[in-house]
Amino acid sequence: MICPNCGVMCDRDEADVGVGIIYGPWGCYCGWSERAEYNLLDGPKLTPDGYELDQWGGATPPQILEGEIR
Ligand SMILES: [Zn+2]
Repeated sequence: MICPNCGVMCDRDEADVGVGIIYGPWGCYCGWSERAEYNLLDGPKLTPDGYELDQWGGATPPQILEGEIR
């Protein structure tokens, strides 16, 4: 998968659930995601709970973000 925004190889999360492997959406370090709800090219995405979404479909709790800043 090549990023349509910057043209480098993209990455995605894998999760082995026992009966197979579930893949997350393709995402790129530039912020592009194949899923519109995770695409960060137009800015960070936050859930109603204050979690910051990443381009691979993950969510970082707000307290971890605060820990990284301080
Ligand atoms: Zn990219």
